[in-house]
Amino acid sequence: MVWDISSVFKSLRWKLQFFYSALLATVITFSGSVFYYQVWRSTFAEVDRGLEAAALYLDVMLRSFPPPAIQQGFDMLSISPPIVKPDGSSPPPPRPRRSKEQFLEELRLPKELNIPGMNGLRDQPYFIVTTSNDKLLKKDFLPPGYSEEDSLGRSFYPRPSLITLKNNLREVRMIGPGGAKIIVGKPLNQEFIRLRNIAFQFVGIGFVFLVFGVGASFAIASRMVRPITQMSATAELLSEKDLSKRLDPNQIDSELAGLADVLNRLFSRLDASFSRQRQFTADASHELRTPLTVIRSVSELSLSQPRSSQEYQEAIEVSLKASERMTNLVDGLLALARLDSSSADFHLQQINLNDLVSESISLLGPMASEKQISLVSELHAVQILGNAESLLRMIDNLITNAIIYNKPGGEVVITLDCENNKASLKIKDNGVGITEEHLPFVFERFYRVDKARSRISGGSGLGLAICKGVVEKHNGAITVQSVVDVGTTFQIQLPVWKD
Ligand code: ADP
Repeated sequence: MVWDISSVFKSLRWKLQFFYSALLATVITFSGSVFYYQVWRSTFAEVDRGLEAAALYLDVMLRSFPPPAIQQGFDMLSISPPIVKPDGSSPPPPRPRRSKEQFLEELRLPKELNIPGMNGLRDQPYFIVTTSNDKLLKKDFLPPGYSEEDSLGRSFYPRPSLITLKNNLREVRMIGPGGAKIIVGKPLNQEFIRLRNIAFQFVGIGFVFLVFGVGASFAIASRMVRPITQMSATAELLSEKDLSKRLDPNQIDSELAGLADVLNRLFSRLDASFSRQRQFTADASHELRTPLTVIRSVSELSLSQPRSSQEYQEAIEVSLKASERMTNLVDGLLALARLDSSSADFHLQQINLNDLVSESISLLGPMASEKQISLVSELHAVQILGNAESLLRMIDNLITNAIIYNKPGGEVVITLDCENNKASLKIKDNGVGITEEHLPFVFERFYRVDKARSRISGGSGLGLAICKGVVEKHNGAITVQSVVDVGTTFQIQLPVWKD
């Protein structure tokens, strides 16, 4: 199977899948990052709190001595002489004071300080205490490679200030009583190892969630598109086998019912269109076949034995009539084909409809007189946007029908005026009329009420279908009213031209 990447971008299922997975990955990454940041922050906050508390503890311890003693590195403690009063009496002896060694021995970080790593073997907190001029008082647990000179050379402030040194060391430094420099620090190796482990766990758990989530989203996306796939498969089956069948809306999810309805209506239209097409082709072939059969049989008969010139002439006349009928039919078919084609080929222009009607009346006048029909007209000037050629054909058809399907001495009244912003053309005759059961079908292609009469008059049954096509192409409407033996009225309404 050839894998086409472009099909992935077009697939609704893959798009849903991608969207879900991206959303899930974003949520997992974001929540994991926030959680990890919180752990990271609380870890270092705990270390910092412990280091600050330790620095302040050392500061308090130093404060139990006078600042000058601290400045001199406690050297004066051991040489403090007894104080003698001027009257010779001796004050009570001072309370025994701790010696420098005793004090320095006591100067250490007690376990109660609760600095992370305090009780462990690794990452033990360290400290340095010096006088203001960097004379070392005490240092404890300094990590290997620690540079005291570097550290003491940095800035010190009265308040504890925190810094992170290279080699993963976190330190707090401050100035204590008598300018003493206090540094308390701690290697952060254990914290970093713990954080790295937590990060690995987060990534692992996140990955498991993501895999499950992607699996679930795949199932959801498949489930969501399944009805569409099923529907399109059913639709394909129906369209292949039987266009008269329809999708059952009761078996389709409500969200897709609208689509099913659209498809059903499309099927109905296609079905109707295909049957019309079939009917049309059958009718057209049938209509063409009759004159062709006439020409053929007349020709065969004429050639079957020698004939007089009179007989040949008659045969040619019959053939000519048949070919005229075929020409009419083909003309009609061509006109319908043009009307069915796209509107781009249908050129519209500003037209005086009354001029077209007058032209048609004067063209058909001789025919009317021949059939003893009088043409009466009452035309008002009306302008429309239309196609002159097709409109003229339509008017000719209607007036011709009104003459043909009339009685000798009959009358055709043609009126044109403007009603409610619409051009209204009425062609009224007092001829044979059309029975009620035929009326709904007279605009259909090849429909003829009285076939014999229509054929004799050279009618193809396409005239009114062409009229309807022309009117619809102009966004208008055509209606018919008829009473048998009283007469027929065709009314056409077209939008008027507005500047
Ligand atoms: P045709 O070319 O056969 O006249 P049309 O489409 O023009 O076909 O007309 C369809 C049918 O409608 C005709 O066969 C005819 O019976 C009927 N018809 C049309 N116009 C009139 C009319 N003015 N009076 C009576 N019948 C009419």
